[in-house]
Amino acid sequence: MTRSEALFEQAKKTIPGGVNSPVRAFNGVGGSPLFIEKANGAYIYDADGKAYIDYVGSWGPMILGHNHPKIRAAVLAAVENGLSFGAPTELEVQMAEKVISMVPSIEQVRMVSSGTEATMSAIRLARGFTNRDKILKFEGCYHGHADCLLVKAGSGALTLGQPSSPGIPEDFAKHTLTAVYNDLDSVRTLFEQYPTDISCIIIEPVAGNMNCIPPIPGFLQGLRDMCDEFGALMIIDEVMTGFRVSQSGAQGYYGVTPDLTTLGKVIGGGMPVGAFGGRKDVMQFIAPTGPVYQAGTLSGNPIAMSAGLAQMEALCEEGLYEKLSAKTKRIAEGFKAAADKHGIPMAINYVGGMFGFFFTEQAEITRFDQVTQCNIEQFRIFYHGMLDEGVYLAPSAYEAGFLSMAHGEEEMRLTLEAADRVLASMKAA
Ligand code: PMP
Repeated sequence: MTRSEALFEQAKKTIPGGVNSPVRAFNGVGGSPLFIEKANGAYIYDADGKAYIDYVGSWGPMILGHNHPKIRAAVLAAVENGLSFGAPTELEVQMAEKVISMVPSIEQVRMVSSGTEATMSAIRLARGFTNRDKILKFEGCYHGHADCLLVKAGSGALTLGQPSSPGIPEDFAKHTLTAVYNDLDSVRTLFEQYPTDISCIIIEPVAGNMNCIPPIPGFLQGLRDMCDEFGALMIIDEVMTGFRVSQSGAQGYYGVTPDLTTLGKVIGGGMPVGAFGGRKDVMQFIAPTGPVYQAGTLSGNPIAMSAGLAQMEALCEEGLYEKLSAKTKRIAEGFKAAADKHGIPMAINYVGGMFGFFFTEQAEITRFDQVTQCNIEQFRIFYHGMLDEGVYLAPSAYEAGFLSMAHGEEEMRLTLEAADRVLASMKAA
C-alpha cells in the first residue's frame, strides 16, 4: 500500500469520502487519490515522494507555477503584520484598483473568500437590482455550490452523476432555468416564456467544468443582446477564466461586456479568494450603500490580498499570455497528434491557458450533450497511464486542463512522450 492509499483509508474515517471537495476523490477515474505533500514550479510531489508534472494547478490559480518566489515572498511579508483584522486595509484598495485596471467592465468590486461566494452574491445582487427571481444558467456549467446553482451543474456534481442536488427545495430550484451552452435559440425560448422574470444570465465564458468548451462565435454577444432586450443582467463567471484566458479575462478575449463579473481562485494566487464586480450603479446596490446584504469576516484578508496582488502584478508582464497560449496549444495539439498516430479518435479544445481533450469520433465538441457521449473508459485508461508516467491531469473527463508559465520545454516534451507511450499501449490493448 502506498502512503497516499494509507492516508486515504485513514481520511475516510474522519472526513466524508476522505476529501474536503468531492472532485478530489478520483470518483471519475477510479482508484485512490494522491495525497500531495508539496509543489514547486510545474511539479507536485505526493506523499510517497513521487514527482508529477501538474496540469491541474490547484484547479486554475497556479498560472505562474507552484510556489512562485514572488508570491511566496509577498505572503511571508504580509504574515509578519498579522493574519486578519476585520477592518479595511490599503491592500484591499490596491486589489480593487488592480482588478479594475485589468477588466474594463468592472467599475467597482467587492472581495469574498471563494468562487461560490462570488457567484452567490452576484446573483443575489442581480435579483435585488432587477427585482426579479429567476436566473438562467447553462447545463454543464458549474458556478460553485450555492443552492440556486446546483441545478444541472458541471464539475464534481456531473462527475458523480448528481448535477441537481438533493437538499435544495423545489421552491428554490424552480427559479433556476437551464439552457443549452452554445445554443442561443434555447435561451430565447426561455426569455420568451418568462420575459419579465429573469434577473440574470450567468455563464462560464469558456466552459471549464464539462471538460473545456469555448463559446462559438457570436454566442456571448448574442446573450448580451438578449439580456438588453429583456432587461436582465449578464453575469460572466470568470472564476476559472479570469486572468487565465487573457489579461482582461475571457470577456476581453471575446470582446463582450457583462454587467457583473465573478472572479475567484486566480486573483488569490492560491489563497482562498473570490470577488464580484461590475457596473457601479449595480454594485452600489449592495450594503452598506444599497439594500442587498452581503458580508464576510475574512473578505479582503490581508494575506490573500498580498498573494493575489503579487500574482496579478506578475501576470501583467508583456507577452505572458502569448507564451501561455503557445504552451497550451503545444500540449493539446500534441495529445491530438499522438492519438492520430495511434488511430485513437480524439477531439481537442483550447484557449489561453485552458485545454480539453475528448475520446470521441466527433470532430468538434461545442455542446454539453456531445461531452456526455465521449468514451469515459478510454479516458480512465489514459488517465491512469499518464499518472503512472508522472503526469497529473484532472481526475475527471468533465474538467479542463491548465498550463502554467512554469511548464517549460522539458516538461512539455516529457508530457507528450508519455502521452505517446500511453496511447500506443491503448491501441495495442
Ligand atoms: N465558478 C466557476 C466557473 C468555477 O470553476 C468554480 C470552481 N471551480 C466556482 C465558480 C466555484 O469556486 P469555489 O470552488 O472557489 O467556490
